[in-house]
Amino acid sequence: MIIQLEKNISTNQKAQIIDKVTALKYKTTAVKTQKGEYLIGIGKKEFDIRNVGQMDGISDIHIVSDDYQLVSKKWKVKPTVIDLGDGVMIEEGGMALMAGPCSIESEEQIDKVIAHLVKNNVKIMRGGVYKPRSSPYSFRGLGNDGLKMWYKAANAAGIKIITEVMQVSQIAEMYEYVDIYQVGARNTQNFNLLDELGKVDKPVLIKRGISGTIEELLSSAEYVFSAGNENLMLCERGIRTYEIASRNTMDINAIAILKEKTHLPVIADPSHGVGIRNFVEPVALACIMAGADGVIYETHEKPEEAYSDGQQTLNFDESEKLINKMRRVFELRESL
Ligand code: PEP
Ligand code: MN
Repeated sequence: MIIQLEKNISTNQKAQIIDKVTALKYKTTAVKTQKGEYLIGIGKKEFDIRNVGQMDGISDIHIVSDDYQLVSKKWKVKPTVIDLGDGVMIEEGGMALMAGPCSIESEEQIDKVIAHLVKNNVKIMRGGVYKPRSSPYSFRGLGNDGLKMWYKAANAAGIKIITEVMQVSQIAEMYEYVDIYQVGARNTQNFNLLDELGKVDKPVLIKRGISGTIEELLSSAEYVFSAGNENLMLCERGIRTYEIASRNTMDINAIAILKEKTHLPVIADPSHGVGIRNFVEPVALACIMAGADGVIYETHEKPEEAYSDGQQTLNFDESEKLINKMRRVFELRESL
């Protein structure tokens, strides 16, 4: 149950609502976000919500039966819109493109990718400066110095930055230089990290865990939302299955399912989803038809020389073809 509180609610009114809900055998949690104030009631007993809904200080009340509440579409039917400034939006009815290398490698590499994005009118650049690698001997990123270098070039070109944050201590040091914090698949259930990202006033993209369920992804988003940050989006990036012909199995079902369950934007990552360059395009196009609000994928001038994930990275020709096809498929979807 979500109780939306009025902006000017008094302490006394709040206490009375909590008493009433507690008497109904619901456990309440007070949530204050950057946009509003809520009381979340968790319990099973059925009751007439009008009894509570009429109380002073309540602007609305909703029954949500799932474990996740605030990210559910059952109470907030209007889709969440993420505004990155300068006219760059991530929202339903749009198709946000985020492209760039797996890892940020050098100033020269950054400049080449930015030129490619500008040419194709792509406004958001992806890239990792802190890389979660399966082996400790693989390239682990340029760190915050790399991020600063990247920010300088991207900002000058009007390009927004999405990059992965791996631990709590990195949030503050990265803050000035990021437009979207990415929570990687290996950190989807790092609840300390999620709690801290709830306190930040910048958007967060949460990737689905490698073996995580859709419900677990939604619950991870609930952590960030209930800790204060409503500026959130989800990302399907493929899951681990018994299939070994591809790196992961892109769960296209999840895109359609998430679009039904949550008001948050849903982004597809076909690069990690399939993990093989030749199949990134068909999988990306399928994700758009399934309802994705955006696509994030890997591109590099010379994928064969990339420090990480070269096997799934598109060169600029392939990337440009993909961008054009994605835009056509998006138009088709919207016209159906
Ligand atoms: C990445 O985006 O490069 C990445 C490491 O993704 P994931 O967390 O989905 O594996
Ligand atoms: Mn990668």
